[in-house]
This record gives sequence, structure tokens and C-alpha cells, in this order.
Amino acid sequence: MTLSEKVIRPEVRELAAYHVPASAGFLKLDAMENPYRLPEALARELGQRLAEVALNRYPTPTYSALKEKIRTHLGVPAGFDVLLGNGSDELISMISVACARPGAKVLAPVPGFVMYAMSARFAGMEFVGVPLKADFTLDLPAMLDAVRQHKPAVTYLAYPNNPTGNLFDAGQMIEILRAVGNDGVVIVDEAYQPFAQASFMDRLPEFANLVVMRTVSKLGLAGIRLGYMSASAELLAEFDKVRPPYNINVLTEAAAECLLDRIEVLDQQAAALRQARGQLVAALSTLPGVEVFPSAANFLLLRVADADGVFSRLLDRKVLIKNVGKMHALLANCLRVTVSTPEENQLFLDALRASLAP
Ligand SMILES: *Cc1c(COP(=O)(O)O)cnc(C)c1O
Repeated sequence: MTLSEKVIRPEVRELAAYHVPASAGFLKLDAMENPYRLPEALARELGQRLAEVALNRYPTPTYSALKEKIRTHLGVPAGFDVLLGNGSDELISMISVACARPGAKVLAPVPGFVMYAMSARFAGMEFVGVPLKADFTLDLPAMLDAVRQHKPAVTYLAYPNNPTGNLFDAGQMIEILRAVGNDGVVIVDEAYQPFAQASFMDRLPEFANLVVMRTVSKLGLAGIRLGYMSASAELLAEFDKVRPPYNINVLTEAAAECLLDRIEVLDQQAAALRQARGQLVAALSTLPGVEVFPSAANFLLLRVADADGVFSRLLDRKVLIKNVGKMHALLANCLRVTVSTPEENQLFLDALRASLAP
């Protein structure tokens, strides 16, 4: 037996590492990044703020000023606090660690965000994926059956869903919240909330088992790695115990505090992207052989005749999108593309048109 065979858990050795492709020199439309930079004056102001940060000191572990700005600028209901993560990826990991009692299971519709299943397995929990319907809506009877059968400790509902882009029916989500009841927590992952303009945040007072998770990544700050979640004080206090004490570094803390005071800049960028999304959908709908699915996110899911061929011909043209065709049977021949600036969207459209046929 090799050293790794002896010491590394078998479920970890079996996993494939989360693959991030090299993208230098490409039109990068694979990761749902906001294409816009900060306005020059704001970038300088931020530079000034960051220069004043005491890098020699640990962060203050309460992060109270940052949390207060998140609560007030990002619509957290009165009486609810937030917990911060190094990206929402870390929050997902904290939830897994906190909930991984022996036999505990994690439930989510599939295809969905891959980190739910990965993180469950890291923590030694079984992941139960319930297929969506062919139109990517929830299969409510199947979800309710799975809740009854598996009694999941954690259920994830991404709102809107990645990689399909659609918002699930809110009424059906509430049926799932009620069915899970006191037996588990339901995480509504609102990573794309700036583009969806729909949220469960204001429903926190209604459901003791509801956790609303968000990130500033898709809003335009993917590089600073900051996610947050809100839930009852009782749940947040438990999740907080598994949080590494200084998980948000002082530069992220200062940058977020500075930029949340100027949230309108990022909101305007999100509004421009929502408008660009509509234009891109309209243009793609005119292309023969391309099916575009409805999206409430900053990306579009497309179906073409030969996703592998189209994907590799786009790569030849230095355009990087995501080939999700092999992720799940429901996604056969599907591609996912980030909505970008009107200029980059046009470059993508031209490259796609040229790539549809060999
Ligand atoms: C991108 C994404 C995240 C991860 O966001 P980070 O805060 O950058 O870690 C979480 N959930 C979904 C559904 C996403 O698409």
C-alpha cells in the first residue's frame, strides 16, 4: 500500500479534483464572472482604504462592521444576523461539517451545483440527487418522496439553479421546506440573486429551518472571496462553531466594507448584465439549431446538436465556455455561457455562429 492509500480516506481518493481550466488568452465566459471593473475613481478610493489596513494584525473575529453593512445594504430582515464565509463554498463546507452526524444525508435536485455533493462526501455524508424534470423544473413528488425516505439533514435548493439558470417555483420550494420541517435545514442558495431579483431572504421569519446563502462573487467581487448566510440565531450560532476564526482576511473585510457603501455601482453593472442577457437570448433564438433555456442568472444554458464539437471549435477560436453536456443525462448536448458586455457577447455570437457546423 502506498502512503496515500494508507492515510487518505477512500472517498477522497476516489474524487476528481474540481477542475479549473487554464484561460489565459481566451474570451473567458465559463465562470459567471462580472466582466466590468470598478470605475477608476472608486478603484483609487479602494486602493487608499486598503493601504490603511493593518496587515500585521489579525482580523477582529466578530466582523461586526462588515456584517452590519451586509445586513443593511443587502436586505437581511430585522432581527437576523449573518455568518461570513471565504466564498459561499466555505459556508457549504461549514454546513457539511456541522451536520455530518453518522448516517446524515444531503439532498439536492440534479443537475445542480457540484459543490453540494462534493462537500457532503468530504464530510462523509451520503448525497442524494433527485433528477429535475426535462424542462429543469422541480419534480415535486420525487423531492417529497426523497424527503420522506431519506430524512435529509441538509437540503440545497439553488435559486436560480446552476447550471440550468431557472428559478424553481417558490410555492414548490415552500412545500419542500414544510416537508423537511424540524428534521433538517433547507439551504436556499441565492448566488445569482442580483440577476434574479427574487429572494427567500424576507421569508426567514416564516421558517425555522430556512438558511439563505449568498455570495458577492457573481455581483462582481469574485476575487475577494466573500459569502454570507442568514438563518435563525440558534442555527447560526452552531454553524459559527465550525468556522475558522479568521476566515475573512483583513483585505477582503476592508474591500467589502468600502464597496458595500457604493453598492449602487455593482447594482448598475448587474442591471446592465440583465439587459444584455435579454439581448443575447434574443440573438441566440434566431440561430438555427440552438435552443436557449430561460435564465434568471448571469449565464445561459444552450442546447446544440453536437456540444462537444461546438465547444472545441469555440476553443479553437479562443472562446472558453463550459461544456456541461456530460454532467447529467438531462444536460445532453448542453453548453453554459456567461452573459458579458454587449461587445463580448457579440464576439461570442460570431464565434458560435461559425462553430455550429464543422
Ligand atoms: C458560483 C456559485 C457559488 C459559489 O460562490 P463563491 O461565493 O464564489 O464560492 C455557490 N452556489 C452556486 C449555485 C454558484 O453557482
